[in-house]
Amino acid sequence: MLRVTEIFKSIQGESTHSGRPCAFVRLTGCPMRCVWCDSEYTFSGGQHLTIDAVMDQVRTFGCNLVEVTGGEPLAQRETFTLIERLCEEGYEVLVETGGYFSTESVDPRAKIILDVKCPASGEEARNHWPNLGRLRQGKDEVKFVIANHEDWLYARQVIEQHQLDKRSAVLISPAWNQIDLKSLADWVSASGLDVRMQLQLHKYVWGPEVRGV
Ligand code: SF4
Repeated sequence: MLRVTEIFKSIQGESTHSGRPCAFVRLTGCPMRCVWCDSEYTFSGGQHLTIDAVMDQVRTFGCNLVEVTGGEPLAQRETFTLIERLCEEGYEVLVETGGYFSTESVDPRAKIILDVKCPASGEEARNHWPNLGRLRQGKDEVKFVIANHEDWLYARQVIEQHQLDKRSAVLISPAWNQIDLKSLADWVSASGLDVRMQLQLHKYVWGPEVRGV
């Protein structure tokens, strides 16, 4: 059984897949507590569903792109089986993870979107660094949420140290309402790094409190 907060179809709001129609499976629970977390409603509650029941709901959307997210999806062991089942049925699967759990056992057909937590999140110490070594060019993506200049300097150092911009798509995402977007754009453009500043498209369409659209 999986504990599931919501299953819905919308457009993808982040990553290089932004704007594409996407089915979302949002799983319940997360061991982290990022200061700026925008999905605290996933920390508790949820509905217990079998993997078959989740698959049945996903099929009703007729959408080939599926994101498994949370919460922290990799906190539930059955999530790995769900990802395998989705891949087995031919879906293009994105797995959005906060970077605390190892991605080693995720089905290699799925695409990982991996957070690296910066200092202002309060969860920097819990990054599972070996995940960076598993990023695959042209497939996986790594995301830094930036809340202030210190976060940007931290992200820049990690990107340079691990040569992330040579090995995967790198997403630079402003923490909602916490940082001047023009300043962040200036830092990114002046950096010389091959990274991508992204905005959370769904929040501009439906507002910051959006869920399940
Ligand atoms: S890892 Fe994600 S879901 Fe968990 S607290 Fe941080 S932002 Fe929220």
